[in-house]
Amino acid sequence: MSIKIDENRCVGCRACVEVCPGNLIKISEKNKSFIKHERDCWGCTSCVKACPKQAISFFLGADIGGRGASLTVESHGTIRTWKISINDGSVQEIQVDSSDANKY
Ligand code: SF4
Ligand code: SF4
Repeated sequence: MSIKIDENRCVGCRACVEVCPGNLIKISEKNKSFIKHERDCWGCTSCVKACPKQAISFFLGADIGGRGASLTVESHGTIRTWKISINDGSVQEIQVDSSDANKY
């Protein structure tokens, strides 16, 4: 499992650096974030959710049936819209209200 960071979208806000529980994300001299050891990422998606610029995507590997699709998320208030981009160019969206978490 791993993430990919789009340098063009990254504004160097450090939100991903702060939330990564493994301290895996660093900021370069160009003020862009990067992950040094991708293999160490265990896919918690905290950085994906924290990034305000949707610069981080999470790869859905073949091992979990993702076949190379990637996942990004956009947050508006408590609503999170997860977007799954599939290799054939199609996109699927799932909306979740984070205020519903742990309700049931
Ligand atoms: S997915 Fe989790 S473990 Fe991987 S880089 Fe992001 S915050 Fe760190
Ligand atoms: S949270 Fe997003 S914009 Fe901020 S440093 Fe990380 S990748 Fe860049």
